[in-house]
Amino acid sequence: MNVLACRRFCAWLVLAIFAFTICAIPIWAADNVVVLKAERMFDGKSKTLVQHGVVIIQGDKIVDVGSNLAIPSGAQVIDLGDATLAPGFMDAHTHLTLDYSGDYNVRRLHELDLNVSEQAIKATTYARATVEAGFTTVRDLGSRFVGSREFVDVALRNSINKGVIVGPRMLVATKGIGATGGHFDPTSGFRDFLFGREPDYTDGIANGPEEIREAVRFEVKNGADVIKAAVSGGVLSLADEVDTPQLTPAEMAALIDESHRLRKKVAVHCHGDQAAREAIEAGVDSIEHGSFMKPETLTRMKNKGTFLTPTLMATEWIMSKLDNYPAALQAKAKAAGAARSDMFRSAVKMGVKISFGTDAAVFPHGQNAKEFKLMVDLGMTPIDALKSATATDAELLGIAQKVGTLEKGKLADIIAMPGDPTADITATERVSFVMKEGKIIRNGPPIVQTTAESTQATDIAAPVD
Ligand SMILES: [Zn+2]
Repeated sequence: MNVLACRRFCAWLVLAIFAFTICAIPIWAADNVVVLKAERMFDGKSKTLVQHGVVIIQGDKIVDVGSNLAIPSGAQVIDLGDATLAPGFMDAHTHLTLDYSGDYNVRRLHELDLNVSEQAIKATTYARATVEAGFTTVRDLGSRFVGSREFVDVALRNSINKGVIVGPRMLVATKGIGATGGHFDPTSGFRDFLFGREPDYTDGIANGPEEIREAVRFEVKNGADVIKAAVSGGVLSLADEVDTPQLTPAEMAALIDESHRLRKKVAVHCHGDQAAREAIEAGVDSIEHGSFMKPETLTRMKNKGTFLTPTLMATEWIMSKLDNYPAALQAKAKAAGAARSDMFRSAVKMGVKISFGTDAAVFPHGQNAKEFKLMVDLGMTPIDALKSATATDAELLGIAQKVGTLEKGKLADIIAMPGDPTADITATERVSFVMKEGKIIRNGPPIVQTTAESTQATDIAAPVD
C-alpha cells in the first residue's frame, strides 16, 4: 500500500469508527431532555383538552407540562403536529397470556395438548401488541392452563420489568380464585376425574373461608399483585348459570379480608346482581362485568366508592361471533349482552366510578381501544371515557402517585393519537406514538400488527370471561 492509499485507508477507518460510534449511541441518553409537542393535550384531569400541549421529559420522568412551554436549549424536540398527547392508556381487565378469540370447541381441544412454554412465547407478542396500541399499563386478571402449575403472567410481568421483552406495566392476579364447579374451575364441562384429581387451592379452586384464605396466601406467595375471584357464574363456562352466586358471604368476607390484610386489592368477576351486592358489602375494590346489576346495587357501589369495570368489548365480541360458541354459551351471552347496556347507562348517570377494562383475550389483543367508542355510544362523554382509562384506572390500581396523569414528577408514560379524540373518540384506536417510562416504544406505524382474528385457536386456556 503506498502512502496516499494508506492515508485514504486511515481516513476511511476514522470515519467508519466515528459513524459506528454515532449509530451505537442510544436515541437519547438517560439525562437528555426530550420535548413532546402536539396541537392538543389531554392531561388526565382537566375537563377540556389543553391547546398547544408540551411535555418535557428527562430520564424516565415528566419534568414539566403545559401549554406553549418554552423549549429548553439542547432538548430533542418531537413535534407530533395535528395530534393529541395523553397519559398512556390503562386496561384494568386483560388476560395477556391467553387468546379466546377463535372457535370455542377448537380451543378446548387444543387445551389438552398445547405446550405452556409455547403459550408463554406467544404471550410476548400479545404484550407487544397491547403496548403498541397505547396501553402502557394493564391489570391482568387471571392466567391458568389446565393441568399446569406455571405462573405465565408472573413470568411475563417480570420479563417486561427487566427489559427482556417489550410490553405494558403489568399488575397480575395469577390464577383466579373460585368455587368447585364454578366459572374458574378448569375441569368443569370435562368428564369427571379426566385429569386424575379435583383442582384445589393451588389451582385457585377453594371452598370455605379457610381454603379461600389459603388460596389468597398461595397466590401472593407466587407473585400476585392483585387478587381475582369469580363470585358469580360466567358466559364462557359450561357448567354454571351466568348470574348465580358462587361464593357464600362468609367466603367473600374471607377473600377480601385476607387480600386486604396483605395489601392486595380484590377484583371480582361478577355478572349476577345478588353476588355483586354481597361482594360490595364485603368491601370488594372492583366489580368486573356487572351485567345484571340493578339500580339499587349501583347506588350502593356509588356510596361505597366501588369501581365498575364494564368490559363492554367482551360482550360485543362474543355477540358478533355467536357461531363460534356452543348453544348454551350463546344463550348466556345474549342474556348478559341484553342486560349490560342499560346497567352501564345507569352507572354513568349515577356517577359510579367506571374503570376502563376490556377483557382482552376474549377478542384479539391490541384492539383494547375499541372499548372507548362503546362507552361513548352508551352515554359517557369522551373526556370521561379518556379519564376512565387513565386517572381512574390509576386510582383503582393503586398507582396514581406514579402514573395516570401528565404531571411533573410522574413517570413519562405518554401516547399520542391523531386529531381530537373529543370530536372523534375512535382516534384512540389509531395511537401513533407510545412512550413508556421515557423510552419511545413506537413513533409511527406499529412494529407488530394486532393479533389477527382467527378461527383456528391454537392458544387456549380455561374459561375466564
Ligand atoms: Zn376476564
